[in-house]
Amino acid sequence: MAHLLIVEDDELLRDALGAQLTQAGHRITTAADGAEALERLALQGFDGVVFDLGLPLVDGLTVLRRLRQRLPALPVLILTARDGVEDRVEGLNAGADDYLTKPFSPRELYLRISAILRRVNKVTHVSELQRGRFLLDRKNMKLFLDGAPLDLTTTEFKLLTTLMENDTTVHTRADLLREVWGYNSDVATRTLDTHIKRLREKLGAAGAHIVTIRGTGFQFQTEAAAPTSA
Ligand code: CA
Repeated sequence: MAHLLIVEDDELLRDALGAQLTQAGHRITTAADGAEALERLALQGFDGVVFDLGLPLVDGLTVLRRLRQRLPALPVLILTARDGVEDRVEGLNAGADDYLTKPFSPRELYLRISAILRRVNKVTHVSELQRGRFLLDRKNMKLFLDGAPLDLTTTEFKLLTTLMENDTTVHTRADLLREVWGYNSDVATRTLDTHIKRLREKLGAAGAHIVTIRGTGFQFQTEAAAPTSA
């Protein structure tokens, strides 16, 4: 759970965002304009901020630049209009971690928020994640299978940790391409499939924990059936 600040002047959208993120398990505080956002940011600590770039009183880019001066590591997701290419570029330049183009689905919102929070957690928290036979040592960026370190490429590492860290969701190919290769890449789906294949080969029988969900994508399943048991 994270404490998030939602800054959006459109009341309907603000309420919808609040409801979706509350349902995803987060604690929500809202602000209706840029001035209120800066006030709230000065008064309390947040784990992340979601905000619309088109804001009255103090515009979104100004808020972003000001908060970045004071809080360089705070995860920030910006919301932009569909035709707002300039906004997105300016927003990313001003220090946003990622953006979402309106309209977006609750699922997209959930995944983006999870991704930016996770990126920060990796840097700030010394912790380990155990998923069945796999152990992720975030401090040293190493993965272990049954206690033995895995020799993975950077991409394979990112791919497996992305799946492991969010094992309650099925990751679509588009989600994985975005999370592992980044938002500005145009890597082909085939590249992803090749990496999954190689990763499974390296993991041997444990590769069965990476399950292909037909027509949807991939999921890490701790209780995956061994390929021979079918
Ligand atoms: Ca707006």
